[in-house]
Amino acid sequence: MSRYRESVCRLCRREGAKLFLKGDRCYSDKCAVERRPYPPGQHGSRRIKHSDYGVQLREKQKARRIYGIMEGQFRSYFKMADRQKGVTGENLIILLERRLDNTVFRLGFAGSRSDARQLVRHGHVLVNGRKVNIPSYLLRPGDVVEIREKSRNSSRIQEALVSAERKSTPAWLELQAANFRGVFKNFPRRDEVALPVNEQLIVELYSK
Ligand code: SF4
Repeated sequence: MSRYRESVCRLCRREGAKLFLKGDRCYSDKCAVERRPYPPGQHGSRRIKHSDYGVQLREKQKARRIYGIMEGQFRSYFKMADRQKGVTGENLIILLERRLDNTVFRLGFAGSRSDARQLVRHGHVLVNGRKVNIPSYLLRPGDVVEIREKSRNSSRIQEALVSAERKSTPAWLELQAANFRGVFKNFPRRDEVALPVNEQLIVELYSK
């Protein structure tokens, strides 16, 4: 699978929004979007007027970049969401939020989704007491996510938890920080998910 290897702050600047890809730095005045609020590149500071297609494309790219998902997998999520009952755009966001790496990040065990993905891949995370090293694993209500006992001394995880204490845990999760554990209580509602994305534009893009 190909991976994006350049500065992730460029992605935020391209989308013109904070995508929170870098942990604590995103909350500091070093954030590149705040320091240079225009797209990267030689002509970045010129105003660009997007077509309808361009606007929809940018919204999809923004969502993909926030969750760190490649195009093929993102499209698979869309197809899955489209087959489910209910509003496709909302189903899509709920599917993305159910990913294990996203949940590890939302619980505060990692400073960013990419750090969370690495924790999962390296076997530091258990689901219902069993090691799961698949970042895209989809959680169900009642699932318990915890950091493996051996990994709890990791300064990286402890620092992330300290920073997370300053933020609130989303309504659909319960954090038991002292036990390095969290519960995926229920599927989130769209209005509970803080996400700067208009998913309807993504549905329009993929429905063409
Ligand atoms: Fe985006 Fe964070 Fe970089 Fe700011 S610091 S541009 S929010 S990745």
